[in-house]
Amino acid sequence: MFTKSIAELSQALQTKKISSHELTQMYLERIKQFDKKLNSFITVTEEHALQAAKKADVQLAIGNANILTGIPVAQKDIFCTQGVKTSCGSKMLDNFISPYDATVIKRFNAAGMVMLGKTNMDEFAMGSSNENSYYGPVKNPWNLEYVPGGSSGGSAAAVAANLAPAATGTDTGGSIRQPAAFCGISGIKPTYGRVSRYGMIAFASSLDQGGLFAKSAEDLALLLNVIAGFDENDSTSATIAAPYYATTLNNSLKGLRIGLPKEFFNEALDKDIANAIQAAVKVYEKLGATIHEISLPRTSLSIPAYYVIAPAECSSNLARFDGVRYGHRCDAPKDLEDLYKRSRSEGFGKEVTRRIMIGTYALSAGYFDAYYLKAQKIRRLVAQDFHEAFKSVDVILGPTTPSPAFKLGEKTSDPLSMYLSDIYTIAVNLAGLPGMSIPAGFTAGLPIGMQLIGNAFGEAKLLNIAHGYQKETDWHTKTPEGF
Ligand code: GLN
Repeated sequence: MFTKSIAELSQALQTKKISSHELTQMYLERIKQFDKKLNSFITVTEEHALQAAKKADVQLAIGNANILTGIPVAQKDIFCTQGVKTSCGSKMLDNFISPYDATVIKRFNAAGMVMLGKTNMDEFAMGSSNENSYYGPVKNPWNLEYVPGGSSGGSAAAVAANLAPAATGTDTGGSIRQPAAFCGISGIKPTYGRVSRYGMIAFASSLDQGGLFAKSAEDLALLLNVIAGFDENDSTSATIAAPYYATTLNNSLKGLRIGLPKEFFNEALDKDIANAIQAAVKVYEKLGATIHEISLPRTSLSIPAYYVIAPAECSSNLARFDGVRYGHRCDAPKDLEDLYKRSRSEGFGKEVTRRIMIGTYALSAGYFDAYYLKAQKIRRLVAQDFHEAFKSVDVILGPTTPSPAFKLGEKTSDPLSMYLSDIYTIAVNLAGLPGMSIPAGFTAGLPIGMQLIGNAFGEAKLLNIAHGYQKETDWHTKTPEGF
């Protein structure tokens, strides 16, 4: 049962082959059995889950269920969950029980879905390997010596190891697509504004976007309809109505114009990944797509621009954690300054502290024009590159990451090389566009991810293109040994 897709699980629930209570229990058992190895959950909400499952079973019994009623899901610990610890992977919020639900959580609940628990993540979503978590690193289920990617590493590892059929993530610079690639599953980062950020703890507000992990594009399509759409509590959420994504999944790909950015295929790209992407391109050609070389000339500027903008926004967003209102508070402060200093330096880890310092510096008078303003100008140019590209192609295709998953500890002492693992994903956030990563092969036993980048609010098309590939290939059906 645990290898079944969401569509199949839904079928089993509707036809009463299994109850939501039994299904939930099965996943909870799997978490108990396997998560000691992976560390993918920070909190398992067993009682809460079994209660929600019982409620779902009532809805199923009286014929009041929708397609996702009773399906379990794991939530990244960045989403506020009422009455449940919401840590954001940080010691700062280790004692924080949220008094309210994020909009995303509310919508899952309203759909009758069952939360299994809260997944591990890099502290405040800053990282690419899930090694920055206060709760310890997450392991990659394909090889326990390797990282699962980050910052949504717990969610990706949990779905890859079948500890949950789906999970949420957030993507500020690649944190859904990169871990999806490293763990061999499907992930979608929607257009900025497609999914409400209300109750999603802010890292860099102009880049953060909530999204999803599942085994296939088909599953993602069903789930995206739960969370997409306007929310009056988030002034940046879009008023554009979300289409029903499952309807267009099987549209023909004949005549689809695929753009391959030449900047994505250079020496920095792993050979096996390059070959896997070329093989995927052949699959699309067979389906009637045409291939076009395009250029995204400012690709190399996106990382430097991001590492000014994201820290700047994070330094402002994280100013609220001061040991007064909520969060960690140091013992016996001498005075107010001592309270601020010690609460913050005890509560935040190294990477978060580094970014707060960079951001504060970049925003200070005298440096603002040289750094922040310059980075914002680059951001506009990066967006323009995509705008130009989408005049001649329908979708942009490339690798998700330059290399497969790396070893735990391999990049922890070199933040710059860690930052480079997002070289193909970050520009998409700067431009606010939707992106996906889907499995496209293996190298030395580790999964390879293919990235699809769409035009703004083009999620339906992306899912259609990803599903077309998944009907022709079986990479997305593979399960890591031992799980
Ligand atoms: N790895 C990038 C960073 O550390 C992106 C993180 C994210 O998308 N949340 O900032």
